[in-house]
Amino acid sequence: MTASRVPERPKVAWDTAWASRGACRDIDPETLFVVGAAQHKAKAICMGCPVRVDCLADALDSGAEFGVWGGMTERERRTLLRRRPDINSWRSFFQTAQRSEDYATPAIR
Ligand code: SF4
Repeated sequence: MTASRVPERPKVAWDTAWASRGACRDIDPETLFVVGAAQHKAKAICMGCPVRVDCLADALDSGAEFGVWGGMTERERRTLLRRRPDINSWRSFFQTAQRSEDYATPAIR
């Protein structure tokens, strides 16, 4: 293994319970699987979504390779995963952050 290789992440069961509450539930799914400038429009859909954190956590934990999930493009998610290889469960990370006073500035920079 090379030093730059990102460790494999455990695959988690895909809990779709939150998906029925997503802001994208009534739009064409292809709207979120776009490239280039169209991704900005797709991300805008996520900004007011009530399940954005659940969606992002699942996308990060499952290694979703394509599409905008939780307001992040696949490129942004890859960057985040490279920056924080220490996080094995993004769902747990976000749940802990939500319970802490530091939620306003989660350490995912
Ligand atoms: S965060 Fe975005 S992709 Fe995820 S459920 Fe909400 S609107 Fe859909």
